[in-house]
Amino acid sequence: MKHKFSHFTCSLCGAEYEPEAVTYTCPKDGGNLNVILDYKAINAQYNTQNFMHLPEASLWRYLNVLPVSDPGNLGTPLRRVGWTPVYKPARLAQQLGLQRLWIKDESPNPTASFKDRASAIVVARAAEIGAEVIVAASTGNAGSALAGMAAASGTKAVIFAPKTAPPAKIAQLIGFGARVLLVDGNYDQAFDLSIEVTQALSWYNRNTGFNPFTAEGKKTAAFEIWEQVMCRLPADSKNLAVFIPVGDGNIISGIHKGFKDLMALGWMARMPRIIGVQSTGSAAIANAFQRGDEEIRAVRSTTLADSISVDLPRDGVRAVRAACETGGTYLTVPDEAILGAIAELGRVGIFAEPAASTAYAGLVKAVAEKIVEPDEPVLVLNTGSGLKDVNAVMRAVPTAPIIEPTLEAVIKELR
Ligand SMILES: *Cc1c(COP(=O)(O)O)cnc(C)c1O
Repeated sequence: MKHKFSHFTCSLCGAEYEPEAVTYTCPKDGGNLNVILDYKAINAQYNTQNFMHLPEASLWRYLNVLPVSDPGNLGTPLRRVGWTPVYKPARLAQQLGLQRLWIKDESPNPTASFKDRASAIVVARAAEIGAEVIVAASTGNAGSALAGMAAASGTKAVIFAPKTAPPAKIAQLIGFGARVLLVDGNYDQAFDLSIEVTQALSWYNRNTGFNPFTAEGKKTAAFEIWEQVMCRLPADSKNLAVFIPVGDGNIISGIHKGFKDLMALGWMARMPRIIGVQSTGSAAIANAFQRGDEEIRAVRSTTLADSISVDLPRDGVRAVRAACETGGTYLTVPDEAILGAIAELGRVGIFAEPAASTAYAGLVKAVAEKIVEPDEPVLVLNTGSGLKDVNAVMRAVPTAPIIEPTLEAVIKELR
């Protein structure tokens, strides 16, 4: 089989592996694998001009810099992942005193979160290697995304979710026809179980921070940020700062990888500053960054932001580096600030689940602490729709009064 990438490298020991030699993590030390493209070959065929203007309004517009081949399935939701909008919320920019603020909204993805990007690429990879069943452990969104993309492409999916996952997410998994097993334990236990089952039953595993192709899907957001925002910045503009919510650390690592691909191809002049935001109640990666090392120590996570509630992040080392190597940083925000950010984003028409609003809460803190300057361009990622977890949103906003169905009652209430 001909692969669309040149090899894997281990993010810990640097060992190199042929495409056929490994499937998940480094056999020596369990490190996450980077997928390395053949940059020379890509450069020989494409440049920023003939690459950027592909007609497809999805992440498949970047097929030439993805490690998988065209997955077909035209006219299905698999072809609608990515190429999400960037908004310029003038009111929020003004409130924060920023000259340029963008919010990239991932909720229009087919299953309403950023995770569709990873699942789309994993489904394409599964088809390439002839895998028939794809399995994942998920707090919800990764599972929903896998279930949705598998359904769109006619592949079987099995999902292990903690039984405490929000009901809307569980409903989505089952609605997409996946085989769903709710684990009487937390995400970390569901993760370990899914790996045991993968080995026992020879299934293909999509787990975040385990399957090297998830980051390759997530990197497409970096390509879009580059194409939609960075290419249009005036030449004398300060460097872009990108705010990303962090749980396992795979989104931030994937986006860093996308920017690194663009640098390696010589297509992007300047690496943006990457700023990771965690909940104070689940801050294992931010802790490592603050200590100044790459040792990820488990925490007992307590945050209500379920999508970033992780005891032991699975992609922590690369996530620390994403901030270190780009002049970025890590911030932590308490759950109250995360809920407050849901309400703020809602007022400009953007509906966020708690994990997603965490990035905006981080920006509020960064402005207050002068970590970003007023003339620095800023992009905040909204990673998932508020419809994913309506109970959390209800905690972020006031309750609505119940009234008698009469005009008097309305007038009395409005006074
Ligand atoms: C998964 C997820 C995150 C965090 O991504 P990691 O790769 O776990 O760091 C953030 N927001 C939402 C909505 C998610 O589903």
